[in-house]
Amino acid sequence: MKKRILTGDRPTGKLHLGHYVGSLKSRVELQNEYDMFILIANIQALTDNFNNPHKVSSNIIELMKDYLAVGLDPNKVSFILESDISEIADLTIIFSNLVTLSRALRNPTVKSEIIQKEGEFEFDKISIGFLSYPINQSADIAAFNADLVPAGEDQESIIEQSREIIKKFNKLYGEILNLPKIYLTETPRLVGIDGTNKMSKSLNNTINLGDSEDELKSKVMKMYTDPTRIHKNDPGHIEGNAVFLFHDIFNLDKDEVKNLKELYIRGKIGDIEVKEKLYKVLNDFIAPIREKRLALDNREDYLLDILRDGTKLGKKIAHETLSRVRDSIELNIINK
Ligand code: ATP
Ligand code: MG
Repeated sequence: MKKRILTGDRPTGKLHLGHYVGSLKSRVELQNEYDMFILIANIQALTDNFNNPHKVSSNIIELMKDYLAVGLDPNKVSFILESDISEIADLTIIFSNLVTLSRALRNPTVKSEIIQKEGEFEFDKISIGFLSYPINQSADIAAFNADLVPAGEDQESIIEQSREIIKKFNKLYGEILNLPKIYLTETPRLVGIDGTNKMSKSLNNTINLGDSEDELKSKVMKMYTDPTRIHKNDPGHIEGNAVFLFHDIFNLDKDEVKNLKELYIRGKIGDIEVKEKLYKVLNDFIAPIREKRLALDNREDYLLDILRDGTKLGKKIAHETLSRVRDSIELNIINK
């Protein structure tokens, strides 16, 4: 039997280069080898968008376009809408008994996301829903009994928490659930175009997989470089320079990158030229994705059908898992 993958995204915006290098690339590579489930986490997205459900609902179709445009094949992958799998909600409630309040408060990713949004970690600004999203995500993974979760570095602490929860559950009730592992790529975290530590939909520092040539050009041209460099002939710095970080990852011509770095360090080349080269590299990378994505505009019914089919299969699997979970904790009393 094939091993199972569960991974997913929050429908809070369009997918970007960080998603590609951190997770989409490995999904495309692994889709032949594994049973793959990709979850559109619209319930999780509501935990910090509860006042704006339209933002979440309208991005579902955008994610579907991104998935197919990067080469995920609906004949190999099941796409699932989280809000239609009520078993995940049931499992979230069950799992919440296995997490202490202090453990929930200690998750470093949740902590930094709260500080990023609110400016501080204040109890009266944190909803129970947001604080417990790692429990909900553990239920996403466990409901599909996944073996592997391809995700970015920011997810390490969340998957670690999922493993703790599942281990505790299995210790109490027997080997009911698989213990999942994270699958990291060689680039588990891409910086934002502003040079901050993570490209993120909610930080407005992304290059999206569907960006037009003009959008891409203007984003690359305003990318963070070396703040100490005022004139073109000042010696430049490579470390922490987003333009070179992107060259390292996306430019396949390694000799060109080496040469650009040498010239930059010696003050022999300007930011604009290095950025123009990067624009070309990124545009070559994005162009085929953009084209496929555009061809999916106005094909909403087709995309929703794929999502409907995947969700139907997902529901069946989650239902099977939940009935084993319910048995083990003696909930199947009137429905034996
Ligand atoms: P949001 O700001 O709404 O949280 P996001 O940009 O962080 O959005 P998610 O939907 O939370 O995107 O993440 C989906 C997947 O992509 C996760 O596995 C996450 O680790 C990965 N990912 C997101 N951003 C990056 C990045 N900059 N580099 C590498 N992987 C990333
Ligand atoms: Mg995120």
